[in-house]
Amino acid sequence: MTATKGYAAQSPETALAPWSFERREVGPHDVQFDILFCGVCHSDLHQIKNEWFPGIFPMVPGHEIVGRVIKTGNDVTRFKVGDIAGTGCLVDSCQVCANCKQDLEQYCLEGNTQTYNSYERDGKTPTYGGYSNTIVVREEFVLHISDKLNLAAVAPLLCAGITTYSPLRHWKIGKGHKLAVLGLGGLGHMGVKFGVAFGAEVTVLSTSPKKEADAMKLGAHHFVVTTDEAQLKAAQGSFDFILDTVSAEHDYGMYLSLLKTDGTMICVGAPSKPAQVSVFSLLGGRKSIAGSGIGGIAETQEMLDYCAENNIVSDIEMIDIKDIQSAYDRMLKGDVRYRFVIDMATL
Ligand SMILES: [Zn+2]
Ligand SMILES: [Zn+2]
Repeated sequence: MTATKGYAAQSPETALAPWSFERREVGPHDVQFDILFCGVCHSDLHQIKNEWFPGIFPMVPGHEIVGRVIKTGNDVTRFKVGDIAGTGCLVDSCQVCANCKQDLEQYCLEGNTQTYNSYERDGKTPTYGGYSNTIVVREEFVLHISDKLNLAAVAPLLCAGITTYSPLRHWKIGKGHKLAVLGLGGLGHMGVKFGVAFGAEVTVLSTSPKKEADAMKLGAHHFVVTTDEAQLKAAQGSFDFILDTVSAEHDYGMYLSLLKTDGTMICVGAPSKPAQVSVFSLLGGRKSIAGSGIGGIAETQEMLDYCAENNIVSDIEMIDIKDIQSAYDRMLKGDVRYRFVIDMATL
């Protein structure tokens, strides 16, 4: 086994603290890489607090992982020692179901294996995430990362990046579309960057007027303060798509009214409680409300390659791992521009 250092929550009530554990030996199809950077996703906090479902403890969060390969199994062909590698939210899936066969491992019909707070395919070995010094992942779930980009700022692409890239590609959002991005946080700021890169006319919808200057800097064309009645009224019926990145409770009906006829609101933020949606807000204008979860491995690689070609990374604030709790506190207040990334050298 491989001795590993990390930060874990021992229960939903305890703060993250140093914890030692073991990872499996590198098998024939495995890649081991030492972790350089790990992004801090809002879902890390949801999961260590048991806000989505009862978690598996001790829990080592982290699924925006970038590092350098230190060991490869005998049958590994796509990676060699020294390569820059990454892993996002998934470390395994059944590989044979209809969805896996279509490169949609995130929707594996047998249930995917998540990077942490999940079980390996044996159904009993817990997975541990990227708030740690090293990780062992089967080759098919390891991504190639270009060393052209700032590696710390690449880490959030592995979750926030693919979570916004995938729906924009699926709904073919680009030139001629008016896209609203609801919420300007870790997901939202990537939604703006991709929306602009794909040629859409992008509006940021936010409760916070303070974010307008940042939205424009990120490339957005317009900004609507959603607590301002007049601005909200002026935006009625004006968008082809809304990319909803908000993971706190909010009024879906109010935002559906901003869609054009046949418009679609795509939810990628995940509030912990079910939302109330009146059917009337959908049938007046044949509107759709849809969801999208991360992306498959092939699409994640496509996104990383697109980012390397187009010089797209996340806007980040680097932290030491000992400051993770204050980072969570700031994240809850929406006080982060726009993703915390842990410098794993500080572990
Ligand atoms: Zn995430
Ligand atoms: Zn499957």
